[in-house]
Amino acid sequence: MSIYKKILVAIDLTEEAPQVLNKAVEISKAHGAELMLVHVVEPVGYAYGGDIPMDLTELQDQLDKAAKEQLAGYGEKYNVGKDNQIVTVGRPESEIHRLSEEQDVDLVVVGSHGRKGFQLLLGSTANGVLHGTVCDVLAIRIQ
Ligand code: AMP
Repeated sequence: MSIYKKILVAIDLTEEAPQVLNKAVEISKAHGAELMLVHVVEPVGYAYGGDIPMDLTELQDQLDKAAKEQLAGYGEKYNVGKDNQIVTVGRPESEIHRLSEEQDVDLVVVGSHGRKGFQLLLGSTANGVLHGTVCDVLAIRIQ
């Protein structure tokens, strides 16, 4: 019996995403596991610090829509169905923690740049995901 039944792969939709996805897909196949594709859209308010008096709802909707389209493209390419494509809004680490528990995932796969020194002190998403996720976490080293 396979040790992993449900795998969540978090992707940032950069050109590095396929490096993480390729391995997650192989691992899910090897384990006969269900694969969930997740992207977290950061709230536009974060970028503007919330101090510009303007309605950002439309911009946020556009970002969500663009992310959903990109995720759908990956879903098609990697054979992950619509029900397993998730776009949510928030902080990537927190959303990945929440989803992994809510969805009863047993492995989370993220990319890692292997930062050192000061960059590491500032924190990475992989590090944030590791601290707080209750299931196993696999960090794919990004080349
Ligand atoms: P970073 O620490 O930002 O370089 O990101 C490293 C990895 O964290 C990426 O390869 C993804 O696996 C994951 N990640 C970062 N940002 C997001 C995001 N917005 N949504 C989902 N996963 C993300």
